[in-house]
Amino acid sequence: MILYDLRCTAGHRFEAGLASMFDDNPDCPCGATTSRVPSAVRQLGTADTGRSREEMPTTWRGIRQGHPDVVRGWHREMTRREKLEETHPELAGDRRPVLAHERYFEGRPLKAGDPLATRVAQATFGTTTPASTSEGGTR
Ligand SMILES: [Zn+2]
Repeated sequence: MILYDLRCTAGHRFEAGLASMFDDNPDCPCGATTSRVPSAVRQLGTADTGRSREEMPTTWRGIRQGHPDVVRGWHREMTRREKLEETHPELAGDRRPVLAHERYFEGRPLKAGDPLATRVAQATFGTTTPASTSEGGTR
């Protein structure tokens, strides 16, 4: 069942209720023609997109050494996210493969296309600013 609202050309908005999606749109009480817009109720119900892939743990520590409850919870989140991304590919975000996730990159895995020098600096000094600009002129 698809819920939608109707909005007329004069800007009035009202609920279409459960009218069949194959019915013609009723005219607005003001006489203007209407078009269908996603229901405000429906939008509220689906506004939560869940966690993004970037928020998901990428380390053993991040899943509490494989604690079953934590793993199950994240699996549920990821399954939900995958379904969402199937219909909204723009939400998929950074899908680049992880190249390294140990030592320097344990906290933040190295991904394909990451500038290596910057990432090593981040991992070593804990800064997001490239070393060349943060330390420029001090030596
Ligand atoms: Zn109207």
